[in-house]
Amino acid sequence: MQALMMDMPLLVSNLLRHAARHFPDVEIVSRRVEGDLHRYTYKDCHARAARLADALTRRGVHVGDRIATLAWNGYRHMEIYYAVAGMGGVIHTVNPRLHPEQIAWIVNHANDQYLSFDLTFLPIVEAIAALCPNVRGWIAMCDRDRLPASAKVPNLLCYEDVLAEGDDRYVWPELDERSACGLCYTSGTTGNPKGALYSHRSTTLHAYAAALPDAMGCSARDSILPVVPMFHVNAWGLPYIAPLTGAKLVFPGPALDGKSIYELLESERVTYSAGVPTVWQGLLAYVASNGLKFSTFRRTVIGGSACPPAMIRTFQDQYDVEVIHAWGMTELSPLGTLSRLQNKHLDLPEADRQKVLEKQGHVIYGIDMKIVGDARNDLPWDGKTYGDLLVRGPWVVKEYFKGEGGDPLEYDGEGRGWFPTGDVATIDADGYMQITDRSKDVIKSGGEWISSIDLENLAVAHPAVAQAAVIGIAHPKWDERPLLVVVKKPGAEVTKDELIRFYDGKIAKWWTPDDVQFVEAIPLGATGKILKTKLRETFKDYRLPGV
Ligand code: ADP
Repeated sequence: MQALMMDMPLLVSNLLRHAARHFPDVEIVSRRVEGDLHRYTYKDCHARAARLADALTRRGVHVGDRIATLAWNGYRHMEIYYAVAGMGGVIHTVNPRLHPEQIAWIVNHANDQYLSFDLTFLPIVEAIAALCPNVRGWIAMCDRDRLPASAKVPNLLCYEDVLAEGDDRYVWPELDERSACGLCYTSGTTGNPKGALYSHRSTTLHAYAAALPDAMGCSARDSILPVVPMFHVNAWGLPYIAPLTGAKLVFPGPALDGKSIYELLESERVTYSAGVPTVWQGLLAYVASNGLKFSTFRRTVIGGSACPPAMIRTFQDQYDVEVIHAWGMTELSPLGTLSRLQNKHLDLPEADRQKVLEKQGHVIYGIDMKIVGDARNDLPWDGKTYGDLLVRGPWVVKEYFKGEGGDPLEYDGEGRGWFPTGDVATIDADGYMQITDRSKDVIKSGGEWISSIDLENLAVAHPAVAQAAVIGIAHPKWDERPLLVVVKKPGAEVTKDELIRFYDGKIAKWWTPDDVQFVEAIPLGATGKILKTKLRETFKDYRLPGV
């Protein structure tokens, strides 16, 4: 029997329209490339997004066309998100930290029609313009008087000029909710990057689920500062979740150092943030060395790579900031699991509650997960057995853009497709998942696995350690043994033996790294994560002591 309910498609444009109608004067504050703070409201943002959508339509951008961005978190980026998706186009956020050749490859693969960029990235645009003949216009996201003259960029346009071509009475089209609205490429540590193509439906459902109290838990009482970039899986959904909930948005632009973030957290009375562990190291170092506290900042989501327990404790114990440890990936829009306590945990001793919060967490409704062994058999949820992590859900990719890489799914006995995440994990009886490693980073020693994440988490708990990475080094007898690579905190001293002894009693003896190497810096990838591939390359001729 047909139900008798209104059939309204789940469209991205509705999120911003909702905010403009029901939270019209809630602010969006942005630090601009120019250094100043720009502020306006959801109502203003909606009007400008509509105007831009109209302008792009007049310029001949069609439903399904891709429009790229190379941009920081800011109000113009937000406008492009909504204008492009809202008119039926596909917003393709490109990570500016990739190599220009890789950026050109991605822009051509996506067949982007226009590319909008912050002035910071003009050198990238100059380097790739000649390599991307299909791009019809390069839109500089700046005021008219800041538009640079660049001989190397044909058809260089000013964002404000393009916007002025449109009319803000533009009416958002009623699109099919299953049509594409966003495109994001994975970082492609092996082979060429592959595109995850999101739909209006998947993006809206992800935003709904992510806003739930036991997920991101965002509300209209929040002032949200997404440190995670809008080019890193849509800033984990926050540009969609904030208008959905009516939260204030604070965009940090290019200034991601500890001091700038701290000042913005204070001046905009930010309650909530999100970012990868490496950016928080900068903030924590700044507040510690200046003896500062946070006045309003109370919660932050940390994910993208494992959040060291020491960081969770520092935030909680010293600054009264609750850390929500989260796991996800580009192919999941990105949220899969988050760690929040359940009613049954509330009376547990502090140390046991802490153990729960250190895990990558519990699925949010919509996502299902399982771990499987080599024979693809389901493994028990006992918190100890580890296996390949598989997921499914309405915001998980079923295929990559243009069918790249073939069918990525694994099928179960009922013919249901599961996406193999490439992560190795345990799941406990309460359904809390903990990542052991990326499958390509696990260290295989004597036929057993050693978790590099566990060893790194312990190392960064040492007061002299700023950053730590553990990689497997070939060993004639054991196959591989762990090597700990460390960046010391400025002015701190610690020896190799002290660090090795620091593991005593904290892990199984045979997990202890065989050696420690001190380095000036650990290579980070385009999304701020430790680049293990690069590190393994650096140490490819290194030999463990006694080998
Ligand atoms: P890439 O790093 O390839 O650009 P993503 O940003 O999509 O791609 O990263 C997804 C991967 O990041 C996951 O598969 C997982 O290995 C890792 N990751 C994400 N969050 C966490 C976390 N909280 N703990 C450990 N690893 C994580």
